[in-house]
Amino acid sequence: MAKVLIINTGGTISMTETAEGLKPDLGRFRAALAEMPELRNPKMPAWEMVNTDPLLDSSNMTVDEWNRLGEIVAENYDAYDGFVILHGTDTMAYTASALSFMFENLGKPVILTGSQIPLCEIRSDGKDNLITSLLIAGSGRVNEVCICFGEELLRGNRAIKYSADGFIAFKSPNCPPLAEVGIAIDYNEALLLPAPAEPFRLQTLEKNPIGVIKVFPGIQFELFANIMTEALKGVVIETFGAGNIPGSATALLPIIEKASRNGAIVTVCTQCPQGTVQLGAYETSSALKRVGAVSGKNMTTEAAVAKLYYLLSKHADAKTVSRLMETSLRGEE
Ligand code: ASP
Repeated sequence: MAKVLIINTGGTISMTETAEGLKPDLGRFRAALAEMPELRNPKMPAWEMVNTDPLLDSSNMTVDEWNRLGEIVAENYDAYDGFVILHGTDTMAYTASALSFMFENLGKPVILTGSQIPLCEIRSDGKDNLITSLLIAGSGRVNEVCICFGEELLRGNRAIKYSADGFIAFKSPNCPPLAEVGIAIDYNEALLLPAPAEPFRLQTLEKNPIGVIKVFPGIQFELFANIMTEALKGVVIETFGAGNIPGSATALLPIIEKASRNGAIVTVCTQCPQGTVQLGAYETSSALKRVGAVSGKNMTTEAAVAKLYYLLSKHADAKTVSRLMETSLRGEE
């Protein structure tokens, strides 16, 4: 019988209503789990649960929590067939992206899930999300970090939080679902990453100073010059469309040029949920290429941020980081 480790980090699924709003409540969460007979059904994998302390609203997740999660999986890697991580939806796509890079040669399912309504409430979507995630984690069918939510299994580093209040909280606009969750769990075999040839390894992350800039009409780039200091190791620029910045961006280019000269990795992503950056397709983007920016292609901002943390923690050489930013490592582009 497959054995799955549930790692509970908090999020709405573990929360209860208080005078200040929803807050994690381990007692209520445990009581709600005890009321789920499905979890004791013989068709379920065997499971055990650890809770990180304290349980968090995922808005409070940092690189430290990602490293802790990575260590828990690494310490238990051989003892379990799969992992379910209960996590708040707000930053689930960031954590899934980060773990996808941190887990090198992953050969087991790591499934992140949560809910929009706490498990202790009668209309909670957490019940189905947890049951399906446990079945997928115990199936041994995927070798990657995924988000299982609503009716889909998504590649974690392709997912974005799409709805603040709907039960279909995540979408993966540039990559079809890895599985559709209907009457059956229908896997899209052609998309799944192959089993690794090398042994599993955890790469922990350093707290590298990185930033994200979203361009908008009328943006005064001079204001950002102050953050493009020598301390900055990487920046993701969320541009318009296929990688375009405002035409009068003369103020931006010297800033980017200076940042790349200082060794910062300037990665160009798009504000569009769907489609890809093509530096040089328009006059308004070719200058970015000239001053040393790299293309984030169709990576989500979440994946680009996580990949920057990962590559900057692993490689000292800016040229290597730039090259690998434009290379798909875990199906993220
Ligand atoms: N604020 C919550 C969190 O991210 C939202 C959720 O879980 O749905 O922890």
